[in-house]
Amino acid sequence: MAQRTPRKIVAGNWKMHGSSAMLSAYVEALGSLELADNVSLVLFPPVAFLDCCRRLLAGQPLEGRLELGAQDLHPEREGAFTGEISGPMIRDLGGSWVLVGHSERRQYQGESDELVARKAEAALTAGLKPVVCVGETEAERDAGAAEEVVSRQVAAVTARLDDRALAGIVVAYEPVWAIGTGRTASAEQAQATHAVIREQLRRACDAEIPLLYGGSVKSGNAAGLFAQPDIDGALVGGASLDAQEFAAIVAAADVDTTR
Ligand code: PEP
Repeated sequence: MAQRTPRKIVAGNWKMHGSSAMLSAYVEALGSLELADNVSLVLFPPVAFLDCCRRLLAGQPLEGRLELGAQDLHPEREGAFTGEISGPMIRDLGGSWVLVGHSERRQYQGESDELVARKAEAALTAGLKPVVCVGETEAERDAGAAEEVVSRQVAAVTARLDDRALAGIVVAYEPVWAIGTGRTASAEQAQATHAVIREQLRRACDAEIPLLYGGSVKSGNAAGLFAQPDIDGALVGGASLDAQEFAAIVAAADVDTTR
């Protein structure tokens, strides 16, 4: 049996928020952050600011510790796809991570499980670490279908990627009813779903795949979530826009992970 992931990952998803001025103030505010060795920090600003962020970090204490990613990518390397951005382009801008299948893209852009799996594959091919987002809607949970939906979303990715490729992904469980609503899953609810996903991933891949929780994570609930055995970190939306609040979540991630 492979070892559990030894570290926590805290990732901020700015969605379509921010500006270069805000980013500059943010990087300065985060500059004094004491980042424990067992915590990885990733920021997903709008892709338009990736290069700006890389430049702002140059020579700063967080350079090399605050990793950068994009919020989406196109599954093709290049081509006549106006307005899109590919994995190699994200790399070129300084990104090393990418979100795929965020529920807002599944909802507003109609992204299918199959497309999300293709995007995860394209990310890996480009040398990016994909964070595959899965999660059920409120109606699906109320109908008792939460596990079925999440398992189906995960299965689309495990069916497309071989064992070696799967070892390079991260999965984020983000119940749609908890995103941006202030209504977070309780630590026990999140742990229960994470345990189901963990088992499914273990059947598909020998390596331990980090499992993040996302959905209204804040400084006040982060420690309880991070204390759960199958929660390896957090994908933070709204709260990541405030440097102080994000720093407090990062501090909560510095827990003993030798379990
Ligand atoms: C997200 O966008 O992935 C997210 C979890 O948002 P929030 O933290 O605002 O719920």
